[in-house]
Amino acid sequence: MKRFGLYSLSLLALVISSGHATSQASAPATQEELPAVVAHVQRAQEIAGSDWRFLSDGFLCGPAENTIPLAIRTIPGFLDPDAPGIEPFAAFDNLYYVGMYAWGAFILDTGEGLILFDALTNERQVKEILLPGMAELGLDPNDLKYLVVTHGHVDHYGGAPYLKQEFGVPIMMSEADWDYLPDDISMPYFVKANYPPVIQPERDRVVQDGEVLALGNASVTFVVTPGHTPGTLSTILTVTDQGEPRTVAMWGGQALPGAIRELNQMHDSLHRFWNLGNERGVEGLISTHPWVVGNFELHARGSEDGSNPLLIGQDGFNRVMGIYDECIKAQFARSLAQDQ
Ligand SMILES: [Zn+2]
Repeated sequence: MKRFGLYSLSLLALVISSGHATSQASAPATQEELPAVVAHVQRAQEIAGSDWRFLSDGFLCGPAENTIPLAIRTIPGFLDPDAPGIEPFAAFDNLYYVGMYAWGAFILDTGEGLILFDALTNERQVKEILLPGMAELGLDPNDLKYLVVTHGHVDHYGGAPYLKQEFGVPIMMSEADWDYLPDDISMPYFVKANYPPVIQPERDRVVQDGEVLALGNASVTFVVTPGHTPGTLSTILTVTDQGEPRTVAMWGGQALPGAIRELNQMHDSLHRFWNLGNERGVEGLISTHPWVVGNFELHARGSEDGSNPLLIGQDGFNRVMGIYDECIKAQFARSLAQDQ
């Protein structure tokens, strides 16, 4: 099995091309921005230094209304229904990534079955990307025990009904996001003439805030972190890296909302999750939009001593959370000014 088989030419090309595009799209703080906004963006950039610059620039710290256009311009295959899968890879000994560049799924092998995080966009992507990717990694979809949907947007739940139908996998989502599905604001991006049909899952298992899912050798803690959606699920889980247990965090929703109320929610959620992450000693951060937290960039950069580049340490976790915090505050200042 390829542990860091991600140094495939195709992925590297994507990383290089996206890095180039991202740098062109950066500098969210323009001279027209309010001083408060500029100050928070600058603070985010200071925390980011040179190594986390891809976080502080553009997507996170830019104006909320620009995030989707920015993603369409800069993320390879974003919203392309025919975007190819990238080479699937083992991020850790027992945690795998399968999907496209723009988004995908993580699969945790617990030793007594698999926990899938997110389901791609539709049945076609499950058949053409998820299942072949799992086969390449030696993972049997009949071993899927749970499907955790991080939040109620099509790019995370669209493949869920097919997985449930074919493999009987229970679908887990927060109560607030089950309720939110009829209002899912991502629908217009995916209900299009040239796209495969969107099928929403029927209400299934409800995940509670603080719930712990124990299966095999895995323990997965769920935190309901509203902001990106009303019930975005974030997760803290223990994986192994070269046989050593390591605690990593999965922040469930990336793009910042524009409305004050949701920004306040996201800010509160971030700090709850940040505190819990520190209590648990989190030293790695992953997302089913891996490019947002720089996972591909870190992978491509590798590490000279052979250590896992996704293990950014507790300091790295604190810095990334700090960048989110400053970007949320920057957006808050923009939204406040617009409301007045
Ligand atoms: Zn989303």
